[in-house]
Amino acid sequence: MKRGLSFQSWILGGCLVVVLCTLIFVGLLLEHSLGQQMVANIRESLQPELRALRALVADRWRPEQGLSQSDALAEELGRIVGARVTLIAPDGRVLGDSEVPPAKLTALDNHAGRPEVKEALNQGQGYSVRYSTTLNLELMYTALLLERPGSGRLIVRMAVPLSHVQQTLAQIRRLVLWAVFLGVLLSIGAAYLVARSLSRPVQVLTKTAAAIAGGDLSQRFRRYPPHEIGALGRAFDQMADNLQSKINDLTRSRDRLEAILRGMVEGVLVTDDQGHILLANRALKQMLALSVDPLGRLPSEIIRNAEMIEALEEVLAGKDYVLREISTLGDRPRHLEAHVVHLSYAEGQAGVVCVLHDVTERKRVEKMRRDLVANVSHELRTPLTAVRGAAETMLDGALDSPQYARHFAELILRQSRRLERLVQDLLELARLESGEAAPKVQTIQAAELVDQVLDAVGQAAADSGVELERRLPKEPLAFKADARQIEQALLNLLDNAIKYSRRGDKVTLSMNHTADQVVIKVSDTGPGIAAEHLPRIFERFYRVDTNRSRELGGTGLGLAIVKHIAQGHGGRVAVESTPGRGSTFRLILPA
Ligand code: ADP
Repeated sequence: MKRGLSFQSWILGGCLVVVLCTLIFVGLLLEHSLGQQMVANIRESLQPELRALRALVADRWRPEQGLSQSDALAEELGRIVGARVTLIAPDGRVLGDSEVPPAKLTALDNHAGRPEVKEALNQGQGYSVRYSTTLNLELMYTALLLERPGSGRLIVRMAVPLSHVQQTLAQIRRLVLWAVFLGVLLSIGAAYLVARSLSRPVQVLTKTAAAIAGGDLSQRFRRYPPHEIGALGRAFDQMADNLQSKINDLTRSRDRLEAILRGMVEGVLVTDDQGHILLANRALKQMLALSVDPLGRLPSEIIRNAEMIEALEEVLAGKDYVLREISTLGDRPRHLEAHVVHLSYAEGQAGVVCVLHDVTERKRVEKMRRDLVANVSHELRTPLTAVRGAAETMLDGALDSPQYARHFAELILRQSRRLERLVQDLLELARLESGEAAPKVQTIQAAELVDQVLDAVGQAAADSGVELERRLPKEPLAFKADARQIEQALLNLLDNAIKYSRRGDKVTLSMNHTADQVVIKVSDTGPGIAAEHLPRIFERFYRVDTNRSRELGGTGLGLAIVKHIAQGHGGRVAVESTPGRGSTFRLILPA
C-alpha cells in the first residue's frame, strides 16, 4: 500500500504555513503602516521650517540674482533649517542647491518632472518620498511655490533624509523576523502536541480496524480520547459489537442447519440454477456412494444414476416438482424416493432441492406383507377346500350311510381344528410382532415350568411312543420372564420334537444357566434337519417337508413364534442338527 504523508505531518505542515503566512503578512503590514505614519509625522514636523523658509526666501531672493548668488542663498537656507534646500525655477532649472557646488549646478537634470515640483506648481505645495540618485539616500522632498508680484515665481524645495525612518523600519523588520522565528518554533511545538494527540488514537483505530478486517473480531478500540476521535472510536466499537453478534447469530444458525442436515436420515442436495451443487449432506453421500467432494460440481459429473440426474434436469429445465423412484446398485442395493423441487430462496436466486428417502425397508415390508397374504390364503385354502369337499360329498348321499357320514364328519372336524390352530398361531404371531404382547415379566421357578410343559405333552409323547426326559440343575433355578410366553415357546419346541421323532426316539428338556443367561434346551434323537434348511426354518410358513408337516397338523408358524418370543425377551433361539441323529433347539434368555 502506498503511504502518503502522515496525519501528523499534515497538521504540522498546515500549522507552519498558516503561522508563517500570518506572521509575514502582519510584519509587512506593520512595517508599511509604521513607515507611512513616521513619514506623515516627519512631514507634519517640517511645517515650521517651511514657514521659516518661505519668509526667508521672500526676504532675500531677487529674480535678477545670478546662479552663484542663488546657490549661496540655498546654502545659507540649508544651514538655517538644517536640511538640503534646492531653489528651482518654474521651468525646472536648478538655481541653487545647498549640497551642490555652483559649478555643478548646470550639470543637474531639469527638475520640472519631479513629482513634488509638479505638485507645487499645481497646488502651491508638493511632496514626495524618493530615493535620491544624487545623494544615494532615501529622502523626503517638500516643495513650496513662492509667488509674489514683481519678483516672479520660485520653487523652494527642502529634502530631509529618511535614514532614521529606515533604521527604525529595519529594527522592526528584525523584530518581526525574530517573532516569525519564535512563532514558528512555538507553533511547531504546539502543532506537534496537537497532532500527536490526534494521530495516536487514529493510529490505534486504524490498527484495530485492520485487525477486524483481517478476521480478529475480538479487537476493540476501548481508550476513548475526549474529542471527536473518541466518539468515532466508541461508534466503531459499537459497530464491531454489532458485527460480532450478527456473525455469532449467523454462525449459530449455520451450525444448527448443519447439525440438522447432518442428523437427517434423508439425503439432501441443493444446487444453484445452473445445477452446480451447493450442499450435500452426509446421508445423501452415503446413499449415492459419493466418494468425491460434490461441492461446486455438476450432478452429472459425480452421480452415477441416470434416473436421479434426469429428475434434477427436469426441474432445472422448469418443472416445479418431480417424484422419482430410483434404485442404487453396489454392496447394499437401495430403493430411494427422490423428491425434487424448484426453489427460489432469495431475490432473483433460484435452484433445486432434492430430498432422498430410503424406502428399502418399506419396500421389504410391503413385499413381506404381500408374501404373507399369499401364504395365509394358500394355507387357509387347503383345509377349507377339504371341509367343503366333505360337506358336498355328505350332501351328495354319504349322509345316508352312517359309516361314510362319520368318516366325513371326522374329516371336517380335523380340518376345522387345523384351521383353528392356524388362526390361533397367526393371531399369536401378529400379537408378538405388533409389540402389543410385551413380556409380562415375573419370576419363574424352572422346575415348575418344566413339570407343567412335560405334563402337557405327556399324552402326545406316549401316543407316539417317544420317551421324555428332564434334566435340571441340582440347585433350584429361578429366572425372570413372561411365564405364558416361555411356556408357549417350550410347548412349540417339544411339540415339534415329538411330532417329527419316530417311535422309540427320546426327547430331552434340559435347563442350565450362567451369570448372565438362562439356556433352555430341547433335543431329540429324531430325523434331524439338513443343513441347507437350517437358516430358514424360523421363517413363517417355512417347512422342510410341507406334506409331512400338514399331515402331522403343523401350521409352519411354530418356530417363528418361538423366535419372536425369544427376541421379545432380548434373547435368541439357535438350532443344531445332524440329519439322522436328531436336533437340538436352544432358547437363550438374558438372566
Ligand atoms: P410346523 O408347524 O410345520 O412344525 P414349525 O415352524 O414348528 O412348523 O417348524 C418348521 C419346520 O421345521 C417343520 O416343518 C419341520 O420341517 C422342521 N422342524 C422343526 N422342528 C423339528 C425337529 N425337532 N426335527 C425335525 N424337523 C423339525
